[in-house]
Amino acid sequence: MRIAIGGIHTECSTYSPVLMVPEDFRVVRGDALLASDHFAFLKPFGIDCIPLLHARAVPGGPVSKAAYTLLKGEFLEKLRAALPLDGLHLTMHGAMNVEGMDDAEGDWISAARDVVGDACIVAASYDLHGNVSQRIIDQLDIFAAYRTAPHIDVQETMARAFSMLLKALESGERPGVAWAPIPALLPGERTSTEDEPAKSLYRILPKIDKKPGIWDANIMVGYVWADEPRATAAAVVTAVDREAASQEAQAIAEAYWAERENFSFGPVTGLLDEMLVIAEASTTQPVILADSGDNPTGGGVGDRADVLAALIARNWQGAVLAGITDLPALERCFVAGEGASLGLKVGGSLDPASASVEAEFTVLRLIDNDAAAEREAVVRTGGIDLVLAARRRPYHNIADFERCGFDPNEIRLVVVKSGYLSPELAPISNPNLMALTDGVVNQDIPALTSLRRKPATYPFQKDATFTAEAALSKRWLK
Ligand SMILES: [Zn+2]
Repeated sequence: MRIAIGGIHTECSTYSPVLMVPEDFRVVRGDALLASDHFAFLKPFGIDCIPLLHARAVPGGPVSKAAYTLLKGEFLEKLRAALPLDGLHLTMHGAMNVEGMDDAEGDWISAARDVVGDACIVAASYDLHGNVSQRIIDQLDIFAAYRTAPHIDVQETMARAFSMLLKALESGERPGVAWAPIPALLPGERTSTEDEPAKSLYRILPKIDKKPGIWDANIMVGYVWADEPRATAAAVVTAVDREAASQEAQAIAEAYWAERENFSFGPVTGLLDEMLVIAEASTTQPVILADSGDNPTGGGVGDRADVLAALIARNWQGAVLAGITDLPALERCFVAGEGASLGLKVGGSLDPASASVEAEFTVLRLIDNDAAAEREAVVRTGGIDLVLAARRRPYHNIADFERCGFDPNEIRLVVVKSGYLSPELAPISNPNLMALTDGVVNQDIPALTSLRRKPATYPFQKDATFTAEAALSKRWLK
């Protein structure tokens, strides 16, 4: 059996002016792809796959045309060299936007299908925050998406898709994909699978998998910060029984739609000032405050200083902000050296519209790295410590804090650019607060400019009605 594997994985806010360039992607190819943690799920299968290319970037703004063309070109070149193929497994995120292009994954997956031909079985694994389209579904035989947010089933999801691919190749059964778009767009912060109603909706999926003729049932929350016609939630079902697949997709879609007004934020959530009043009164620690509008793992720019400015204005004592991406400020710290004091403008280094603040800082610690993009600096102003980062990046793991010399448990207030907290930070937060801050992934969804989404999409239109209608992959109808 000849099975090739690869793909592209990122999520793009069309509200961000900061385009992704080739250097933003970490690309693995060949043996390095097979050896990477991301593809560890392959090992138990004991199957020699043909590695293509896998490109991954921290979510952000749209991918530049040049970056996309370069990556797609190399991917297709490797795919052609791998022919003939029995199977292809595409590991995708699903919410990529490319400068001047709609449905970027539709473009990538269609191009891959054109290369491998009609007889090849093509499986895709997705993030549940991806957006699908009829064009995508038409190219696929197998689809599986994460069932957890925060995502703790990444490896399991790719294994589900890969298992179905093997099952199809070994049994000769020919699966197909049915989907039912749901005209609702909700942010990940309201649809965590740890909270209701998402928890119950997702809990049903493994039961649907067991029904006769069904292989794998999925709920796609979709990605709300992309003003694109394809942006919707969806139910997607992989099956060998077309009728059963359509019925299940419609039932999932109706169930999700029925709950649309019941999705709410998990943690205590409110305006920044309200959250700081609660944090100030807290007798437990660490209070972990999520600066949700500037969350880089949701596509936020990560260069905003709104929370820093608010803490300085309150003369806050005992806080760590990790972190703000600001290369010019970081470089000035490296020139000044540890122990130096200097005036810095922090914020707005990538997006001129981002909030900034000017203050006196002391350089506490410089974290050097051979790769200039990995450099960080810890600076202090008053009772506030701030991590400056050279590149856009999250601080969602304990190791990110330890590298900067912090034990988050020992800090009164930890501020992270995040939506729902990561699996490492959530358990130690005491309490977790989420601030509805400004930024290109801000949570005031009805207020987002919506020029290109389908008009009758909740919550942009609140009184829309909906009857689920499943559509089959064009391939399945042949
Ligand atoms: Zn996601």
